Amino acid sequence: IKDRLILPPERPAATQDGTPIELLANVNGPDDVIAALRAGAGGVGLFRTEYLFLAHHDFPDEDEQYEHYRRVVENAQGKPVTIRALDLGGDKSVPFLGQRHEANPALGWRSIRLVTEHARIFERQIRAILRAAAHGKVNLLFPMITHLEELKVLNRLVGDAIADLDRQGIPRGAHIKCGVMIEVPAAAIMIDAILRETEFISIGSNDLIQYLVAADRDNPKVAHLCDPLHPAVFRVIRSIIEACQRTGVPLTVCGEMAGQPRAALALLGLGARRFSMSPAFVPTIKTLLSSVSLAQAERFAHHVLQLKTSREIRAYLSDRLREVS
Ligand code: PEP
Ligand code: MG
Repeated sequence: IKDRLILPPERPAATQDGTPIELLANVNGPDDVIAALRAGAGGVGLFRTEYLFLAHHDFPDEDEQYEHYRRVVENAQGKPVTIRALDLGGDKSVPFLGQRHEANPALGWRSIRLVTEHARIFERQIRAILRAAAHGKVNLLFPMITHLEELKVLNRLVGDAIADLDRQGIPRGAHIKCGVMIEVPAAAIMIDAILRETEFISIGSNDLIQYLVAADRDNPKVAHLCDPLHPAVFRVIRSIIEACQRTGVPLTVCGEMAGQPRAALALLGLGARRFSMSPAFVPTIKTLLSSVSLAQAERFAHHVLQLKTSREIRAYLSDRLREVS
């Protein structure tokens, strides 16, 4: 791909035979959105809201959050923005949460698990997101869902926040959709039940991989085991995609593997049509996907599913990459 002409950002993403693909960006704040659109992203597939909290000495209040989220939505210029609810804790800890040292932070008190003790923080955030949604096309995404009950609690918070805003006469987005990140193996296994309770899903491949292979993605001694090309990763993702195809629930793959050429090729063949990645990878992936037909990618994915080791998959996809580049 290095030697190929990079496609202009305004050209819509599609396979060689014209299947439309959506390439979205993972962003951490308003400025990233500008860079993402410039790189040719069709919107924001994942806005990680925790960076605003990490930069604070205390919880940002509702108005401050609203202003921040509104800037992200406005910078997207009418393109869709998926805003993720707070994914703090674990490696991203802030002193004002009153977190204690944990021996296994990745398996610990993180993300939406904080909702039982800190419902007010989530209520405030959801209100701010709903208000920002009045300025564009906004989706709300819940990370780390493991139990269906967690999803029901969060959906109830959204319903209550909508009712409160309306009672107070505060403008809000009318068509916000709520989705679930599939990044815990238990959620991947229970995908059919989750799909009945949600409007879209996003595969959080970074965490899904670390939990599948039981290796801390932030521990340099074992992070190499978090290999997106592990055969188990493709099998799990295939079953999630198939469940989405059966039910018609839209799916995005976010996390680093969506922006990696070998993995993206296989994901396309497995049925993924929406990818969210760091803005810098958008041009390369757009060019790559435009150089492969859907039938070719499906053949590659079919073969990948027959292989038993990461090494074989890496070698096979490297050859295919050279073939289509
Ligand atoms: C993921 O887990 O794949 C993901 C996109 O979320 P984060 O990297 O912020 O945990
Ligand atoms: Mg994650």
